[in-house]
Amino acid sequence: TTDSEYSVIDDQQVGSIFIPRQEFSHKGSYGKAVIIGGSYGKIGAAVLATQSALKTGAGLTFTLAPECGYEILQISCPEAMFIKGGEQVMTNFEFDKDFTCGIGPGLGTHSDTEKSFLSFLKNYSQPLILDADALNILSKDPKYLELIPKKSIITPHPKEFERLFGSTDHSFKRLELAREKAKELDIYIVLKDHHTQVITPQGNVFYNITGNAGLAKGGSGDILTGILTSLLAQRYSPEQACILGVWLHGRAADIASEKHSKESMLPTDVIDEFGNVFEELN
Ligand code: AMP
Ligand code: MG
Repeated sequence: TTDSEYSVIDDQQVGSIFIPRQEFSHKGSYGKAVIIGGSYGKIGAAVLATQSALKTGAGLTFTLAPECGYEILQISCPEAMFIKGGEQVMTNFEFDKDFTCGIGPGLGTHSDTEKSFLSFLKNYSQPLILDADALNILSKDPKYLELIPKKSIITPHPKEFERLFGSTDHSFKRLELAREKAKELDIYIVLKDHHTQVITPQGNVFYNITGNAGLAKGGSGDILTGILTSLLAQRYSPEQACILGVWLHGRAADIASEKHSKESMLPTDVIDEFGNVFEELN
């Protein structure tokens, strides 16, 4: 499937990407994920992304968040380590070089956060995951887009995509614009929608058909960011992380909707089904 420009992600492709846990391994074998986000009133987004990273296999998971989230995060995600990144909002983006980072859930767009986020990007060249308010900050000036490290993954929903790259009058034109931008910026774009599209820097498009309208709820995107950060930390390539990640997210949502209904299912219920999806993959 990988040689055609447009394809649908199927079980076989996902099965060939997935690598089972090795018996002779330790936490160092599975990478270090750091979720960067949260601000006063939006710590929940950082909690969801952190729980999601924890439940998708990262060896060690950290949350870089403002002090106001310290107790909340330590209690709701005891397996994750907290790193202080500010007081009420994020102002300090410092973490170890070998961490794989996912930035944006609940980050906020405070001017102090914007300033420190942009200066962080100026000095950072590893692939990372950018979502939510990280994308909203980058939307403020087209020049900011050049700061995105090559081979990074951005995960805009249609509104965030429009803020970043402008509006189009048809979803097919939006997809073509995304292919242009993915090539130009040398990044992966996960265009989140009913059928999410993964767009590679080569211009290939992978459609995901797992997932359902029960995901149309605040917090669904935050857990995708946690999944992608965790998979990239585990040394899946950015393309593999995107394909496996969006499929897993949707598959877990499909199991959650059968148990709880699309109306009642919550992102936390989706996280609770990750284990069943890994059982299917193993
Ligand atoms: P966000 O808007 O950032 O919270 O992200 C929403 C997440 O839920 C994305 O991964 C979307 O693909 C997914 N999602 C939202 N609505 C639907 C839908 N109607 N069908 C399938 N997936 C959806
Ligand atoms: Mg979102």
